[in-house]
Amino acid sequence: MNDPFTANSPLNAPSGTPRDSGHASLFATALSQFERGADLVDLPDDLRSILSQPKNEIIVNFPVKMDDGRYRVFRGYRIQHSNLLGPYKGGVRFHPMVDLDEVKALASWMTWKSALCEVPFGGAKGGISFDPTALTTGELERVVRRFTHALGSNIGPDHDIPAPDLGSNAQSMVWMMDTYANSTGAAERQNVKRIVTGKTLETGGSPGREKATGQGVVFCLQHWADEVGFDLAGATVSIQGFGNVGSATGRILQVHGAKVVAVADHAGAITDEDGIDAFELTDWVREHGSVAGFPGAMWIDPDDYWAVPADVLVPAALENQVTMDNVAQIQAKVVVEAANGPTTPDAERALAQRGTEILPDILVNAGGVVVSYFEWLQNRSAQRWDLDDVDHKLRDTLWRACDAVVDIREELEVASRRDAAYAVALRRLRVVYEQRGIFP
Ligand code: GLU
Repeated sequence: MNDPFTANSPLNAPSGTPRDSGHASLFATALSQFERGADLVDLPDDLRSILSQPKNEIIVNFPVKMDDGRYRVFRGYRIQHSNLLGPYKGGVRFHPMVDLDEVKALASWMTWKSALCEVPFGGAKGGISFDPTALTTGELERVVRRFTHALGSNIGPDHDIPAPDLGSNAQSMVWMMDTYANSTGAAERQNVKRIVTGKTLETGGSPGREKATGQGVVFCLQHWADEVGFDLAGATVSIQGFGNVGSATGRILQVHGAKVVAVADHAGAITDEDGIDAFELTDWVREHGSVAGFPGAMWIDPDDYWAVPADVLVPAALENQVTMDNVAQIQAKVVVEAANGPTTPDAERALAQRGTEILPDILVNAGGVVVSYFEWLQNRSAQRWDLDDVDHKLRDTLWRACDAVVDIREELEVASRRDAAYAVALRRLRVVYEQRGIFP
């Protein structure tokens, strides 16, 4: 067997390279959004500089024994952006594109999301740069456990609480919880379930957490539809990305009478003007890993996906998907950002110029962290809420945030709902900074 740690071993190179210069910086996009919001609420300069960088940037390189007996070194990140309003909170992403720039952007978005929804958490995000689908279950488990161990006391049930994100899921959270619990003293072991949220129901997860982000997307869309007089029943919907968030959004919208007419994912795109059954497609994707080959729709060239007419476009995959390359083809009345950062700044300007509405990510996809908060509360008090209760509380929380965005748009006379959402979040953070000051 090769010595896995010799200098010329390919296994010795940490997975993940810095974002190459051809890629726009996602953190630069996040910062420009932040600056616009900060201008709107006259955020003082000192607060701008504090909030424009994460508080902590943790990078861990750790080895994992693969099934063939060799070692592979993985690179993991945990970026803690702000803990002003409460413990750091945010998901962990498993994807080959994960890098420092991306995780910094995602961490800052968590801060604004929680502030906007009055969830008493700060913002964080983590990730490991690798393709989880290329590993066996055993390898994946060892990656997750070693990552948790490498983070050590940088995470904690009242300090920094991870959750699922792209590529990770409830099972990953259970492994994280179990690893963390086994690293604490016996007296603490039963009291650390809330170290992660998004767990399976059996291990302390919350009813409604799995569909929470998609459910939240629909609540926000309903609020907007009500405000502008748009009829969701009978509306046509196009969904890009059919993982946890995209599929839940599709199923719930279908129950509300909307029609899913196009879906795209990493493998390709499908369409059916009579409607694609989102429940059947969910089962198909679970079994086959993508929309490819789904018998209930027509296969189209992925380049033609954006031009399929639909009233509502839901980007629910990765960042930087709605770009200058496809924005001219998009015919939707409203773009609902179920993903984080799916619209590039120039595409956003193009959409705004022609009057297409954008419901911004920090509002629209906040359902995940809201129900994570409910899960954390249930774990802390050893309770189990029922699904109706969770859904009602989620709806009330998100509709309050939507109301705040509508109000501030009027007050500050601002057209962009993204700018308005930032203004709400930043105003709340400013008040707390003003009252708390900084130590010492
Ligand atoms: N990863 C999700 C997000 O981006 C959920 C985070 C959480 O529940 O903490 O909002």
